[in-house]
Amino acid sequence: MEIRGHHFLCILGFRGLGYDEKFVKNMDEIIRKLNNEHDMLIKAVDSVDNICSMCPNNVNGECTEEEYPGSVKGKDRAVLEVLDIRPGEILSYREVTNRIKEKMTEEKMEKICSNCQWFGLGYCLEGLKKLKGG
Ligand code: SF4
Repeated sequence: MEIRGHHFLCILGFRGLGYDEKFVKNMDEIIRKLNNEHDMLIKAVDSVDNICSMCPNNVNGECTEEEYPGSVKGKDRAVLEVLDIRPGEILSYREVTNRIKEKMTEEKMEKICSNCQWFGLGYCLEGLKKLKGG
C-alpha cells in the first residue's frame, strides 16, 4: 500500500466526504483496511498513491493539483518531514500513527493544511486531537 504524506492526516479526518462517489468508496475501504491491520506495511510517498487511484484529479497517474506552491506535493513533504519519514520509506501503519501522535501538533497541522478546501470543516484537527487522546 502506498500512501502520500498529507493523506496520513486526511485519513484522521475522513467522514465520508470526497471528490465523488468512487473516490469516497475507495478511501473508505483503504481506511478500514488500515484500521484493521495496524501492522500493514506502508510505502510513504510524495506522489499519487492508492487513495489517488480513484480521484478525478488523477490524470494518467499525475495529480493535477500537485505542482504549485502550497500544493499537495508540498504538503506531503512537509508532513513527512515533521514525522521524520523519507519519501519512499517503508514502515508499518502502527509506526506512522505513533509518529503522528508523537510529532504532529495542531499548530503544525494548521500551518501545513490551512489552504486545503477540506480543512475549514474542522474534521482533520478533531481527528488529530482524538488520536492524541484529547
Ligand atoms: S487531489 Fe491529487 S493528491 Fe488529492 S486525492 Fe486527488 S490525485 Fe490524490
